[in-house]
Amino acid sequence: MFIELTDLLRCPNPHDESFLVLLPDRMDGRSVRTGQLGCPVCGRTFDLMDGVFDSGGAPAASAENTGLSAENVSVLIGLSGPGGYLALVGPVASLWEDVARLNPGVTLVAINPPEEVKDSAGISVVRGGMIPLKSRSVRGVVLGKPYADDPAWIRDAARLVLPGLRVLGEGDQPPEDLIEVMASAGGVWVGTGKR
Ligand SMILES: [Zn+2]
Repeated sequence: MFIELTDLLRCPNPHDESFLVLLPDRMDGRSVRTGQLGCPVCGRTFDLMDGVFDSGGAPAASAENTGLSAENVSVLIGLSGPGGYLALVGPVASLWEDVARLNPGVTLVAINPPEEVKDSAGISVVRGGMIPLKSRSVRGVVLGKPYADDPAWIRDAARLVLPGLRVLGEGDQPPEDLIEVMASAGGVWVGTGKR
């Protein structure tokens, strides 16, 4: 996990959003490999292992593959220029190397990626039953299958993205109260969060 990303982590428990305190055990350059994270509000602690923060409750790995290409993702999410974070949720995270090449200077975070996506210098891996990152902390969220068909995950993506920036979903039309849809076609939609 990229050390600076640890500032964006939050406790998944349903209390007021709180940061987590990191006690790193082992670093590799700017990557935290093992350590402990603790919530100052509820006292819950988490082990960070092999660079991965697992906040608990992640759904079983999806057997579905993404129908998107890295080019689709880059064009539709529409980041102009370097800086900040882009979150890839579910199987779509398997595209991360090409997404990184097309978006230089943007830090990638994979949430519940396929098993073969390992935390490394190029991508930070996070797991959970929700997105354990602070609200309004990333420049874009790509919700892959099957997450883009689940209103709870759409609500979390809308919470996560910075105001006015985009959520890209690989699924049916999202609920109107969560996403202001800019365009949709062929089982893919893109819009801005309404929260
Ligand atoms: Zn907590």
